Amino acid sequence: MHELTVAEIAADLASGKYSSKEITQHFLDRIKTHNDAINAVIHLDEDGALARAQEADKQRSDGNAQALTGVPILHKDIFCTQGTLTTCGSKMLANFRPPYESSVTQRCLEQQMIPLGKANMDEFAMGSSNETSFFGPCKNPWDTERVPGGSSGGSAAAVAARLAPIATGTDTGGSIRQPASLCGITGLKPTYGRVSRWGMIAFASSLDQAGPMAQDCADAALLLNVIAGYDEKDSTSADKARPNYSETLGDPIKGLKIGIPKEYFAQGLDANIEAAIQAAAKTLEAQGATLVDISLPTSNLAIPAYYVIAPAECSSNLSRFDGVRFGHRCDNPESINDLYERSRGEGFGSEVKRRILTGTYALSAGYYDAYYLKAQKIRRLIKQDFMDAFNQVDVILAPTTPSAAFKLGEKQENPIEMYQSDIYTIATNLAGIPGLSIPVGFDGHMPIGMQLLGNHFCEQRLLNVGHQYQRETDWHKKIPEAFV
Ligand code: GLN
Repeated sequence: MHELTVAEIAADLASGKYSSKEITQHFLDRIKTHNDAINAVIHLDEDGALARAQEADKQRSDGNAQALTGVPILHKDIFCTQGTLTTCGSKMLANFRPPYESSVTQRCLEQQMIPLGKANMDEFAMGSSNETSFFGPCKNPWDTERVPGGSSGGSAAAVAARLAPIATGTDTGGSIRQPASLCGITGLKPTYGRVSRWGMIAFASSLDQAGPMAQDCADAALLLNVIAGYDEKDSTSADKARPNYSETLGDPIKGLKIGIPKEYFAQGLDANIEAAIQAAAKTLEAQGATLVDISLPTSNLAIPAYYVIAPAECSSNLSRFDGVRFGHRCDNPESINDLYERSRGEGFGSEVKRRILTGTYALSAGYYDAYYLKAQKIRRLIKQDFMDAFNQVDVILAPTTPSAAFKLGEKQENPIEMYQSDIYTIATNLAGIPGLSIPVGFDGHMPIGMQLLGNHFCEQRLLNVGHQYQRETDWHKKIPEAFV
């Protein structure tokens, strides 16, 4: 049952081949059997899931089923879920049960999807390896000595190991696409503003965006149909009609212009990754697309600009965790300052503290112009590069990561090296454009991912191109041996 895609599960539920209760029980059992090996799921909601599955079956028999009614889903633990633990991978929120439901998870509930529980993640979504989680690292199901990527590592690992048929993730600088790539699944970061951020715990508000983490593009389209769209509760949500992302998947790509940015194939890219990406580009060329060499000249400035802007925003967003209203509070505070200092000192891990310190520094009166303002100017140039490129081509094709999954612990002591993991994904967030990562091969036994980038609100095109590729290939169908 677990090898089924969401589209197949939905069809089997519709035909009556399986009930939601059977499907849900199967995935709960898989989590119970296999999760210890990878630590992808940090809170399991068995009773809640079974109760909802029963209700979904009843609604279906009453004729009230929607497209994904009764389909299980796993949510990244960054989404507030009413009454159930929402920790954001942090000790700070280890006991937090939100009094409200995020818009993304609410839309899934309205569709009567079945939330199985919450997925592991880097603390407050800061990281590229899932090693900063307070709940211990998640491991890559293709090799449990390696990282699954981050910050949405739990979501990616769970889908790769088929502990859930689909999951949600969030992407501030690559956190959907990089783990999707390292775990061999399909992940889409939509255009900034396409999916509501309401109730999603904020890291860097001008960059954060939620999206689907799925087995293939067809499933990603199905979930995007549910979660995308205007939300009056999020002032940055785009008031723009949501297309049906499934309808255009089958469009031919003949005549499509695909840009190959030379800066993404320069020094630092692993040779095996480059070969797999070039082969994938050829597959698309054989389907009638034209490959065009392009340049994104400010690419090398993306990481430095991001590591000023993201920490600056996070230092502001995380100031709310002060031990007063919610979150961790130290024992016996002696004064208000002692309360702030010890609650924050005890509640946050070291990477989060590093970001808060850097961000506070960059925003301080004497340095604001030199760092924050400068970074914002660079951000504008990076966006302009993409806009110029999309005057020439329809989509951009690039690697998702410079190498396949690295070993646990390998980059933990060296933050700068860790930050390089997102060298190909970060510019996308700075420009606000959508990006899709799909599996295109293996480096030894570890998956390789390819990115497709599009202009604002061109998710349909990305999913269409990805789907056409997946019709010709079967990388996305592979399941790690221990989880078959
Ligand atoms: N790895 C990047 C960071 O640590 C991106 C994280 C993300 O997209 N949430 O900030």
